[in-house]
Formats: sequence, structure tokens, C-alpha cells
Amino acid sequence: MRGRLAAIPGVLQRLAAEQHSVDFVEKVQELCRRELGFELPESLLRGAWIAGLDMRAVYGAAMLATLRSIAEQVHATGFTNGRDPDETAVSFFLDCGYHAVDISPCSDGRLKGLIRYILRLPDEAIRYRNAYAGALFDVEASVGRWIEAELSRFREWRPVGPEAESRYLKIAVYHWSSSDPLHMGCAAHGSNRRRAAAGALSRLREFREAIQNQFCCGASVDLLLVGVDTDTDAITVHVPDADGELSLHRSIDNMDLYGQTVGDDPNAAYLKVYEALRVVSEQEGWGSGNGQPTEGMRRLVATLLVNNLSQIDYVCAAHGGRYADVGHAEHFISVGDGFEEFQLRNIAYYAHLQTLEEGTPDMDVGIRILESLNVSRGLPVVVAVHFRYDRRVPGSRDRTIAKCRRVTDAIRARYAELARRGLLVCGMTVQDQAAGSPLEVVDCETAPAARPAAVDDTSGRICVDEGGKP
Ligand code: ZN
Repeated sequence: MRGRLAAIPGVLQRLAAEQHSVDFVEKVQELCRRELGFELPESLLRGAWIAGLDMRAVYGAAMLATLRSIAEQVHATGFTNGRDPDETAVSFFLDCGYHAVDISPCSDGRLKGLIRYILRLPDEAIRYRNAYAGALFDVEASVGRWIEAELSRFREWRPVGPEAESRYLKIAVYHWSSSDPLHMGCAAHGSNRRRAAAGALSRLREFREAIQNQFCCGASVDLLLVGVDTDTDAITVHVPDADGELSLHRSIDNMDLYGQTVGDDPNAAYLKVYEALRVVSEQEGWGSGNGQPTEGMRRLVATLLVNNLSQIDYVCAAHGGRYADVGHAEHFISVGDGFEEFQLRNIAYYAHLQTLEEGTPDMDVGIRILESLNVSRGLPVVVAVHFRYDRRVPGSRDRTIAKCRRVTDAIRARYAELARRGLLVCGMTVQDQAAGSPLEVVDCETAPAARPAAVDDTSGRICVDEGGKP
């Protein structure tokens, strides 16, 4: 995946060298077909012999087409099965006492592989996953998701009815960099690990208080705070006490556990993890709490830690214990509902939002990161706006397309200077919520008729027809 995105600048350099040859268009399309697997919009190539190629627009078009092609490939291989719940994983969480799990990590691209790789959980088992800059998630939106999850228990008995003594689990995930803690940590918290953890913890507490105040104490939720060292993928889990209370000072560093468990078989590793849980729960001083967490929470935390030991093992074997790209290396900004298809470290900065107004801090951080990665090299910032609709709801697709356009226009207006210089390229797609649904490309104009791809020269915006082919 990363190789295909990283190959684009090299192919485009070769393409640029051809732009004054007589049969330029044929040569370029042949090169793109062979090296990238698709053709470029003809409109980008026509007239290149007079005005020269708009390489920024070409880069944007190539990046967006590659993203769609990767998504198609992912669907074809059945790597993701969309939002269909995985029964085994759902029953694991139910056994731990949780009927729904809602994770809010930081938007940072280095956490893009959080669920599938760092925590090694099946995507489908996580009911909600929405990233926010600095893991400072929207409390009201989280309450809305909680209401949806609880209502489906009452109305549909999904995944279990209301009589089951299960709870809703909200997890916030912050991050830091052990190699360069002062510069490569969380951009939203000035690379300050403590501030990142404290910020996420305070949102978690606000969320629980909101639920308790609005729906009485019996409707309480469980909270979990997890940190990730993005250089090694090792996690730190803040262990709740018997009352579900969290502390910044009561946590298990999995890199320490990794050192103690190297060479152990899984059973021996589990025993050491449970022992670490007991020890940390009995500590005195700043991190002291009211004893060990519930049995279900212990099982969940132990599983997360053991899963993550395997990921640390992988990073040791494949990357010498530490990624070479400890800093940012995102290729694009993913805006909206996020792509199920791209769950890979450092592939994209992800800003979860429904309107730009609510997601402005997230977008500003993302634009800043991509500016330093791309604009400094003359390449545009590529923004992939993507929302999901529900085919079962009349008019949902049309409203979702309108939302796509609204958010895209707002992004272009907010970063107008970048857009004016051709350094902001936006693409839009929508997708049905049903498992394995294809990405549908949204034309950037409101005209109903599908039309061939074209570039708005004043904005650098790429328009692609409804059929999905550039
Ligand atoms: Zn961050």
C-alpha cells in the first residue's frame, strides 16, 4: 500500500520529462497504466505542450486514483468485511462485560494501524472508531453514539438485550515518541506526553459525567486510557481501579513487560501480565486506587497487553525494534468518516468530522503536518473527503453527497491561499454502510450529468465523473 503511494512522485518525474514529445498523451497514459495501474484524466494532459503540465494537479489526481484503486483491491481480497460484526470478537468483549466499544485515538497518522496492528483486534468488533487531534474527542458526539448503542439493545437486542449486565466501554488513545519526545510526540499537545494523557483523561471523565447527569448513575460507562509510543508501537495501559477510576500515575508499560516475557510461552506471558495488574493495583502514593478492576476489565487489559507484545515482537523483528520513520510520513488527509480500507501506520492523517466548523482544530493540525511534508517539496496537500450513507434510509445518499461538497467547499475556503497556489487538492467519495460496499466518486460540481474529469484551474481542484473512472 505504502509502496504504491510512494512510487507516484518517481513516475510523475518520468512523465514530466516527456511533456514536449509529439505523442506525449499516448506515452504518458501508457506509462501510468504500466506503473500506476490507471490512466490520468485526459483534460490534465491536453495542451501540456503549450502551457506545460500542471504537475500539482496531476499529483493530486494520481494520489486520489491510487487510493481508490487500493480500496478496490482491499475489497477484492476480502481483507476487510466492513461493518459486519465479527461474532467471535463480539463475544470476547461480551465475556469481558462490554456490549459496545468506542475508541477515540488521536488523528495522528502513526496511529492509523491502532486497532488492527497495535492492539491486534478485529476492526469489526469495535463499534465506533473516531479520531480527533490530541484524542480530544467530541463529548456530545460520543454521548450520541452511546444513545444509539443503548437504543439498539432495547429495540433490536443487539448484541444483547438490556437485561444483560454489560456496559459501554469508551477508550481514548494518546501517543508520544520515545526517540524524540520533545519534537515527535503529539502535535496537538506540543509533544508533551503528560499533557496528551491528561487531556484525553479529562475528556473521558467529562463523557462519563455527561452520561451520568443525563441518564442517571445506573447508565454508567467504563473508561480506559491507553498510550502508544509511536516509535515502537508499545502501549501503556492506565489500569482502572475497582470503582472504574483512572489515574495518570497507575499504568502498565508494555515495553517493560516485553523485556520480562521475551521467550515465554503465551500462558507464562499471561501469568506475568496478571501479576503486573495485581502489583500496579496495589501500589501506594499518587497512583493508589481502590483495588483491582473488575474481572472483565482485567481480562480485557491482559488481552490488549498480550496482543501488543506480539506487535512489539513484530517491530523488533521487522524494524530492529524501532521504526525508521519515527516522525510524520502521512500521504494524505482523510476527512469525514474515514476509510475502513486504510489501516496502516503513517498512511494518512485522519480528521473525523461532520462539518468543518466542529473539526477545525483537527484540520489545522493536519494541514500543518502535510504542509511540512509536501508543500516544502512543492507537492500539494491531498485531502480525501469521505462519508458513509445508509442505503436503507430514503435520501441518505443524496444528503451525504451534499455534505461531502459542503465540507470540501469549506476546506477550500479555509485554506484558500493553498488552494489558490494549486497546493490543495480535494477528492470526494461516499460509500454505503453495508459491508464491502465500493467507494463512489462524487463529482465536485452540482451538475447532475456525469462529465469527464476536469481541473478547475483557479483552485487546483480535481473533478472526476460519477462513474469512478478519471
Ligand atoms: Zn496526536
